[in-house]
Amino acid sequence: MNREEIFARDDWRCVYCGEQFPPASLTVDHVQPQMRGGDNSGGNVVTACASCNSRKGHRRLAEFLLDEPGALASFRQLARHVWPRHLRTLDDALVAGQRRREQAQREPPMR
Ligand SMILES: [Zn+2]
Repeated sequence: MNREEIFARDDWRCVYCGEQFPPASLTVDHVQPQMRGGDNSGGNVVTACASCNSRKGHRRLAEFLLDEPGALASFRQLARHVWPRHLRTLDDALVAGQRRREQAQREPPMR
């Protein structure tokens, strides 16, 4: 899929903030990063506005979504076309990340 097809499929709406944008303000984001083997197939790409994409930065998707519950809620609602295996991987990473965070709160690092 090319960029225009991805934006059209997603109704020009960012999966992280849920707002609609003109194509010039949109980017294509990979659920599984390309550097980790993710491809450009329709089930691995989502529409993200430039602002959300730059806020996400180099964080893993699960870390970004744990930091921003609003983005997680939008993603759950809008990223319906993402491959189930990627969603399962994400769910696992969310659970693991949540557990790490809870543990870090209970056990402050030793000095
Ligand atoms: Zn956005």
